Amino acid sequence: MEKLKAEIKELKARFAEAEETLNAIRNGEVDALVATGPGGDRIFTLQGAETSYRILVEEMNQGALMLIPDGTIVYANTRFAGLSKTPLEQVIGSSWQQFFPRDKHPQLEACLKTTEPARPPEEWSLQAADGSFCPVQLSLRSMSMSGVAGFSVIVTDLTERQQSENALRKTSVQLLEKNGQLEAFSNSISHDMRAPLRAMQGFAKTLLEDYGDELKPEPRSYLERIVSSANQLDQLIHNVLADSKLSRDQNETATFDLDKMVREMVETYPNLREANIEIVASSAKVRGYEVALGQCISNLLGNAIKFVPTGRIPCIKVWTEPTNGRVRLLVQDNGIGISPNDQERIFDIFSRVRGDEEFEGTGIGLNLVKKAVEKMGGRVGVESEPGRGSRFWIELESA
Ligand code: ADP
Repeated sequence: MEKLKAEIKELKARFAEAEETLNAIRNGEVDALVATGPGGDRIFTLQGAETSYRILVEEMNQGALMLIPDGTIVYANTRFAGLSKTPLEQVIGSSWQQFFPRDKHPQLEACLKTTEPARPPEEWSLQAADGSFCPVQLSLRSMSMSGVAGFSVIVTDLTERQQSENALRKTSVQLLEKNGQLEAFSNSISHDMRAPLRAMQGFAKTLLEDYGDELKPEPRSYLERIVSSANQLDQLIHNVLADSKLSRDQNETATFDLDKMVREMVETYPNLREANIEIVASSAKVRGYEVALGQCISNLLGNAIKFVPTGRIPCIKVWTEPTNGRVRLLVQDNGIGISPNDQERIFDIFSRVRGDEEFEGTGIGLNLVKKAVEKMGGRVGVESEPGRGSRFWIELESA
């Protein structure tokens, strides 16, 4: 019983001590507490919670303002004072309009009449006390300060962002210029190379035709190799020119009748006219660029008649299908086919499949098709099996 009484006394004493401490905290007489624990003494400071918010707002990288509805600044942080190059004590109490050019004042007034809780961030020009301007982004929110309506404004300095944007713009203009010069250069070189090449091609062919029978097999085979290499170079130049034509084509997209385009292409090129090409009639129309579309069709048809084993007559079918809300143009051949391992890489530039030596080519054609299709926002693909022909397709926006 005596022990119990002693314990109650002890507890009462501790309770009184705790109450005394709490009162001291409430009255602001204590600003730190020492708590003894297993790890030793720890000190807890008891400053008001608003202190951390104040530090956060004062130290942040953006300017911060609080306005009453007529635009008078009732609070500003030091960052805003720095941005506006105005002493903080002069900022507080002044109108926020004075930090912006006069012609913008009506817009600023309109901002404070907003009924929305927050306005989307807007870009403005802040006018500093020394007359200089600073690009800023303003985020304005209506709020209540202890029951009084007002606004908070966060001011973000955009100088660095604008400088990097300007530098980027300048670099891309320079790049475009250089690119244009390079294209013009490759264009003129390709054109100029064609004339002497044609002479070499022509004379070598004439020699073969007119004097081929009189030549021994070895010199005859040399001549044949000259003709074949000249053809190869001619194709390469043709493709380089096609590539630069594709990049230079800046026209607007237009509507094209695929059926009609394929027919016209077949009628224009003698090698296509002689091939067995079935064009399934359709009224499919697509949106695209004329040059780009023409290059896709001519390359796909050209390959379809080229990659056929010797002795087999090329048999090609061309048709369209609606796919994924777009139009697919399909070109199917009865050629050598492509193994699954090669089906992706053949669209890379200069990519040819081993064993292509018997077919002349440059490895640029399908890459041109891919570039052209992507320029029109479309896709290209192939389904094929070695020895069983290939089915190439391009998918474009329907018109
Ligand atoms: P090139 O025809 O000048 O070789 P392409 O870029 O047009 O270049 O084609 C790349 C490669 O893809 C060709 O070398 C060939 O191996 C393969 N290929 C393209 N079209 C076909 C096709 N219709 N049938 C079989 N293989 C093809």
